[in-house]
Amino acid sequence: MFRSNTNGELSSKQIGQKVILSGWVQTIRNKGFMIWIDLRDRYGITQLVFDEERSSKDLLESAKKLGREFVIQVEGEVIERLSKNPNISTGEIEILVEKLTILNESLVPPFTIEDETDGGEELRMKYRYLDIRRNTVREKLIFRHKIAQKVRNYLSDQNFIEVETPVLIKSTPEGARDFVVPSRMNPGQFYALPQSPQTFKQLLMIGGMDRYFQIVKCFRDEDLRADRQPEFTQIDCEMAFVEQEDVLEIFEGMTQSLLKDITGKDFGKFPRMTFDDAMKTYGNDKPDIRFDMKFVEVNDLVKGKDFKIFDDAELVVGINVENCAEYTRKQIDALGDFVKRPQIGASGLIWIKFQQDGIVTSSVNKFFNEEDLKKIIEKFGAKKGDLILLMSGNENKVRTQLSALRMELGNQLNLRNPKEFAPLWVVDFPLLEWDEETERFHAMHHPFTAPKPEDEHLLENNPGKARANAYDLIINGNEIGGGSVRIFNKDLQSKMFDLLGFTKEEAEAQFGFLMNAFKYGAPPHAGLAFGFDRLVAILDGNEVIRDYIAFPKNNSGRDVMIDAPSKIVDLQLEELALKIKN
Ligand code: ASP
Repeated sequence: MFRSNTNGELSSKQIGQKVILSGWVQTIRNKGFMIWIDLRDRYGITQLVFDEERSSKDLLESAKKLGREFVIQVEGEVIERLSKNPNISTGEIEILVEKLTILNESLVPPFTIEDETDGGEELRMKYRYLDIRRNTVREKLIFRHKIAQKVRNYLSDQNFIEVETPVLIKSTPEGARDFVVPSRMNPGQFYALPQSPQTFKQLLMIGGMDRYFQIVKCFRDEDLRADRQPEFTQIDCEMAFVEQEDVLEIFEGMTQSLLKDITGKDFGKFPRMTFDDAMKTYGNDKPDIRFDMKFVEVNDLVKGKDFKIFDDAELVVGINVENCAEYTRKQIDALGDFVKRPQIGASGLIWIKFQQDGIVTSSVNKFFNEEDLKKIIEKFGAKKGDLILLMSGNENKVRTQLSALRMELGNQLNLRNPKEFAPLWVVDFPLLEWDEETERFHAMHHPFTAPKPEDEHLLENNPGKARANAYDLIINGNEIGGGSVRIFNKDLQSKMFDLLGFTKEEAEAQFGFLMNAFKYGAPPHAGLAFGFDRLVAILDGNEVIRDYIAFPKNNSGRDVMIDAPSKIVDLQLEELALKIKN
């Protein structure tokens, strides 16, 4: 037996008992005549004591040989501790060691295994197994496990069945590049790793499974913008004989129950917003509604005042930054510089201050008199002490730019409290999105998404205007999940492929299996997927998904611990009928 108890378990109730403990040496305090050791395992820390008076000389000597992260086993008696530590569960006791066994030695770890470590990100990733010994990392993985358990229980209680779908498949068009795997048995042919189990879950509906879910790995070969991972986890779901409303109800219920577990609060019905309204009000299809700063459009008030920038703009739109009229020139310039950065690309900012003394000033005093400015202030509903920031330009671009500014101000003004949760559904997404570069339509969600029945006629003449029964769940400005009602009719599905620029042959070659399945009685169905890593991070008041993944990849898609990706030997290449271009 390696242990009678864990290191988080013993308290004053066990004083006098003989116990066996195992674990890692976290810290050693050696006073010569007395040695204290903190022994750590997943469950906590227990203090061990060796002393000249009560322990044998040999025992004391062997304790002196211990180093950090040695794996040891001790036998001893639980005794009351003189200086108690109220911060840990075992703080009232210590173990007077009678027998010590070194189970394994350890090199000195390359960083300290403490909550506040001296190890940088790259080093910790290289030795991730040591990093995982730290409380903060371990707690995040345990948190993830608990959420996964709750999700499984919730969905099972709602009659969902977890079904595994294959990983070696054919391309699933979710808008990213596929990772591919060469087939040895079929030289020159490749599997693709699923960007999601989309087509399989639809086939499960045709198979009569009725309600499916899976906590599943998905793979997308994208350029890794901050905090994306090439492999990530989804809670993937699909339901048959349902409409959009049924799907929203189930997954709102699931999210409410997770939020309730975490905050103790009832969240009630989640607000809903159409895509168009989200873009108009927040310039963003995943608005953070923890704070207001809603967009106000002022074309009607600013045109024809000889201010060319506004006169030439498609849209002039702004936000009211409450209580910030006292911002200095320097502060406002910094915001101007922020929106002029190439990532945002705006030409600049116009400001109007409604000062505490009632005076209105602006950066466009030359063109707008006090009365003009007051009208603008009124439209914003601004109060004394508020600062209005205006931007102008192409409608879509300026909304995106102003949205970036809004989020920046949200951060600067501490309006984005990570322990506060603001969920909402964004609905009625456009079905298609025009891509200027390739001059064709792309599916905004994916090609299996159904148009709203009332918009189906638009597919003929004005497809860009058709809306979809597609929905996203947003929490705190992050897309947590998304899905749609699916096409389940083969003719409509062919029309969709056609609109997306697939020839009949291409559609047949890529999706023939699905179209064929549609011929055998496909039920109406709909579903969605949650980004599990992000959901967990957000629920834990964090936004960095990497922290919630046991073995994440870095920004270049590398696993620096196992050193992957890596070359394969010539024999493997040969077997796969592959040649590397030099
Ligand atoms: N497969 C979709 C995705 O990964 C989700 C869905 O439509 O159910 O985003």
